[in-house]
Amino acid sequence: MAIKKILQEPDPILRQISKPVDEVGLEEQELMSDMYETMIAEKGIGLAAIQIGVPKRIIVIDIPVEENKRNPIYFVNPVIKKQSKEMSRNEEGCLSLKSIFVEVNRPSSCEVTYLDYYGEKQNLKCDGLLATCIQHEMDHLNAILMIDYLSKLKKTMLIKKLSKLKIKENRIVL
Ligand code: ZN
Repeated sequence: MAIKKILQEPDPILRQISKPVDEVGLEEQELMSDMYETMIAEKGIGLAAIQIGVPKRIIVIDIPVEENKRNPIYFVNPVIKKQSKEMSRNEEGCLSLKSIFVEVNRPSSCEVTYLDYYGEKQNLKCDGLLATCIQHEMDHLNAILMIDYLSKLKKTMLIKKLSKLKIKENRIVL
């Protein structure tokens, strides 16, 4: 397992649509383990493979129920089968958009089919934080970021702010 670098907006790779996985093999399992380790290190609750630069339709989510009790869910080729008409509005953060929080409206529950860590077909009904999280991560697979839900003007302002942050981070102070 290894901790990978999480790509930051406006990295163009984040705007690549991820491709379905043919088969869950060792390579994919290694990727999932790396994703999980990276997500935990960055204190996130969800991560898509594209965020570490791999354009495969793979997501990991771990919503802590109790402290020190981990329950990662790995989603390979996830597909949202049903979405509730009822919406909920939540403030979301993103490991690729550090220090930014955006309020997003999404269906409050959904049903997802996917392959698990072992390539077994699964079906999961999601609500609450899990529903928000899976829909946010599914967006990453489709090259959508949470800032895309904002007005054009707000989005442009945020991207400018992020680009400046990036420049500052690369500045070497001696
Ligand atoms: Zn995100």
